[in-house]
Amino acid sequence: ARSYIGSRVFSRFYATPASPHALVLLEHRQGILDSGSLSALTAANQLGGQVTGLVIGAPDHVQGILDQAKKLQGLTSLLYSTSIQYSEPLPEVISPLLVKLLSQAPPFTHVASSTSSFAKSLLPRVAAMLDAPAISDVISVDHDFSNNSTTFTRPIYAGNAIATVRASSSIPIKFFTVRGTAFAAASSQESTEVASSPLDPVLVSDSSTQHVKTVLTKSDRPDLGIASRVVSGGRALKNADTFASTLYPLADILGAAVGASRAAVDAGYADNSLQVGQTGKVVAPELYMAIGISGAIQHLAGMKDSKLIIAINKDPDAPIFQVADVGLVGDLFEVVPELVTKLKH
Ligand code: FAD
Repeated sequence: ARSYIGSRVFSRFYATPASPHALVLLEHRQGILDSGSLSALTAANQLGGQVTGLVIGAPDHVQGILDQAKKLQGLTSLLYSTSIQYSEPLPEVISPLLVKLLSQAPPFTHVASSTSSFAKSLLPRVAAMLDAPAISDVISVDHDFSNNSTTFTRPIYAGNAIATVRASSSIPIKFFTVRGTAFAAASSQESTEVASSPLDPVLVSDSSTQHVKTVLTKSDRPDLGIASRVVSGGRALKNADTFASTLYPLADILGAAVGASRAAVDAGYADNSLQVGQTGKVVAPELYMAIGISGAIQHLAGMKDSKLIIAINKDPDAPIFQVADVGLVGDLFEVVPELVTKLKH
């Protein structure tokens, strides 16, 4: 598929400069920079111009994040804004800050973020306020200096087709969110020290949205989104107890995160946060084990870019075997415990 985003009236801000200057939203949680933002930084660097990071947060959190951000490879400069209003990432409260920043010189040509829930709400909101389009979940970026257009690719139809989207020079600010699995995380270097400048917060007195509470799922296992090994289970695991007693020993011995199909999540075997697929998380670990998962297209959309896929299924015709590098036809309730025993010795 090939689509084209045409020109929109944007001239009230400024003329587009020749060389790209991207603003990357550096999200953080519990005092740590989000890995998805580090992938967005890598994508922004591929534009070939300057890259400014933006850190927004409560006064007592921002300094720690800035200390991490200053060491990032590929950043030209850093901006930060602190306010007690920014304690929780509310798009309604943070969007006026971005609108103000993006309406001022020096002009930014691109705004990039991860495809997080927060950024998926913030970036299109800010883009709409500036009468600009936003492109989501991109897997490649390519800036053409000769005509100042940027070409993105993004998966559509659950990853079955790739759309090529060109944002022309008539769009002065190109907003895009980045699929984390498509770009390596930007690395840090102790010797790097990027300069940072403060931005005045834009306070919102009449927000219709208020943060009520944050509920975080606690787990001692690696985070599913960034784990290098994932052990996933499907409907065949029967119930929550057998899901846990069968898969967790294998995940523990491999140091793997646990994932699940939507059928397993819907049946209550596993937490919603563990769902892999089109409507769950997209992962691309070094090792993905699909255990008792049929391989529906919506599940494949979340894991088919994994480097090594191992499938265990009792049905030799299960579609999962079409994407698996290693397939084992057998009853998982026999095979998995045997595998755990062998891995222990
Ligand atoms: P099943 O399809 O029931 O497969 C179970 C498998 O286990 C079978 O292949 C069977 O042969 C095997 N099996 C049974 N017993 C054993 C045993 N003892 N040993 C070994 N193998 C055994 N699904 C997702 O996973 N993620 C998504 O994000 C997602 N999003 C969706 C979005 C939409 C809009 C829709 C319509 C669907 C979505 N789905 C998603 C659902 C998807 O279509 C499938 O229904 C789901 O993935 C099936 O889960 P499953 O493979 O666990 O179950």
